[in-house]
Amino acid sequence: MKKVISAVLAVLFCMTSMMFSACGFSASPESKGSAAGAKKLHMATNAAFEPYEYVEGGQVVGIDAEIARVLCDKLGYTLVIDDMDFDAIIPAVASGKVDFGMAGMTVTEERKQSVDFTDPYTSSVQVIIVNEKNSKVASADDLAGKTVGVQLGTTGDIFVSDVNDVKVERFSKGSDAVLALTQGELDAVVIDKDPAEAFTDQNIGIKILNDPFEREEYAICLKKDSELTEKFNTVLNDLKADGTVDDIIKKYINDN
Ligand code: GLN
Repeated sequence: MKKVISAVLAVLFCMTSMMFSACGFSASPESKGSAAGAKKLHMATNAAFEPYEYVEGGQVVGIDAEIARVLCDKLGYTLVIDDMDFDAIIPAVASGKVDFGMAGMTVTEERKQSVDFTDPYTSSVQVIIVNEKNSKVASADDLAGKTVGVQLGTTGDIFVSDVNDVKVERFSKGSDAVLALTQGELDAVVIDKDPAEAFTDQNIGIKILNDPFEREEYAICLKKDSELTEKFNTVLNDLKADGTVDDIIKKYINDN
């Protein structure tokens, strides 16, 4: 009887460890490995935010995906990208479901209550997109009383929600907000500058107003007190100093 029980326990133990290594959650922050046997780090993102993260040829590509890949390589990890809604990223990082989040994510005091951030790797601003013809919005002051599209849970959402009498329409993808704008369902969309430029390049009849909001800084978020944060910062600062971060950004953004 004892033998049967230990055999069953051994099988269960094996299955559990196989499951964990397959999911990558057993990756110890300490461990390094060759590319083939390297431990995995799971990155949460929302791959609908060109040029930072978007799907091309079945792969998540973009500035964040490339920086994350170099970072993980340098630390001896294999990167696994988990695509999810933007507002699911911080809960996934805070609960340890994933190892870090990178999604053109702005550092805010409120987010700092739930997660830690690395040093910033670039900056951006929110901008307003409107239809070229017959727009009732010429600046941020005109947003009051209008119907404005944002991406759920973003800094654009926070800014617009503070405007008087505004009707905020929240979309899980910025591209859906832009589509609604082009179909005349919205007066404006507020979103980060670089994705806004990607959207205006891809859609005829919309334009960005020259009235940007305050500067925001993008950083990687990690679970509070994670041992990885310091390691990420060391490598990230090296990658900024040796020009790797700038080169990756320039590859995706021409005017930088
Ligand atoms: N920078 C914005 C934020 O952090 C938007 C990010 C995004 O939509 N991926 O809220």
